[in-house]
Amino acid sequence: MYSFRFRGNKKENLIFMNRRKFLKNATLSTAGLAVGSTLVNCAENSKTGTPISTTKSVAPLPLVIATWNVPNATLEAYKILEKGGNALDAVEAGCKVEEADVANQSVGKGGLPDREGNVTLDACIMDKNGNCGSVVYLQNITHAVTVARNVMENTPHVMLAGKGAEQYAYEIGLKKENLLTEASKKAWEKWKIESKYKPIINIENHDTIGMLAIDKNGDISGACTTSGLAYKMAGRVGDSPIIGAGLFIDNEIGASVATGLGEEVVKTVGSFLVVELMRQGKSPQDACEEAIKRIVEKPNSDYKNFQVGYIAVNKQGETGSYAVHQWFSMTKFQDGKNENIQSEFVIKA
Ligand code: ASP
Repeated sequence: MYSFRFRGNKKENLIFMNRRKFLKNATLSTAGLAVGSTLVNCAENSKTGTPISTTKSVAPLPLVIATWNVPNATLEAYKILEKGGNALDAVEAGCKVEEADVANQSVGKGGLPDREGNVTLDACIMDKNGNCGSVVYLQNITHAVTVARNVMENTPHVMLAGKGAEQYAYEIGLKKENLLTEASKKAWEKWKIESKYKPIINIENHDTIGMLAIDKNGDISGACTTSGLAYKMAGRVGDSPIIGAGLFIDNEIGASVATGLGEEVVKTVGSFLVVELMRQGKSPQDACEEAIKRIVEKPNSDYKNFQVGYIAVNKQGETGSYAVHQWFSMTKFQDGKNENIQSEFVIKA
């Protein structure tokens, strides 16, 4: 087996499956065979005959993970899961915490505007049955994730944009709000003095919240919500509302969500890629690394100047995260406690 692995700023070219990975795989299989509740069964998809894994979770459930350091959001989601609530309700509630937090300038109310001074939101949600909903270029509504969920559950569509999405938000009872806070307006006015647009590597411009949860039944859902890149062109839409790019769930396999420069995630259909790699047997960690590698190794990739990060969870409850640059992190709430885990990366800050 041939693979590239990135650790720190070192690029190692390994010709054979490395020892760490061999041992990890061996340990997991042994665990699966040894513990009654974690038996690995081979089954077939009833419609297609395709073999699928029906492995039960080996990690304590429920669990929730999210991009960046968002302990209040994961706590809110966990509270629902702990009481036996479902993963879909949990991820919506968790994302809403960040949407309402005006101090977070990359999500919901208080998000930084586009170059014309308009705050426009993108969000999506996906459930255990593969249903999904999203909104793009939504204005004047704080809880974009709730609109996305309603699109999924109560319309015949998957995606609503702009004025139509806003109109629909009023129809489901959400209220009109000015999303441009004084702090974000000031930041935009300062930016306008030079009006230079350049994707900024670091965290202050990449705080999209992407959240994945597994409930007590072992079912997975996910959601993602953002105001997108600060000072983007008017009309720009990123990866976050695009199913397969910003988010993908397959309840038989696992889930992934992205943050960072959305254009790069869209070009590689990143979250779908991570889930498909897990389907082929990769761990969430290795799948995230491979998806970042696809971006970094593209001809003329400008990866030194942008950030992209993925987090992932598989059906067994194993998690992983990886990013182009240092300082990406994942918040994980499991076993009654919140943890912020620094992600591995390609380039050291
Ligand atoms: N992925 C988001 C976008 O491109 C931005 C982010 O993660 O901060 O719109």
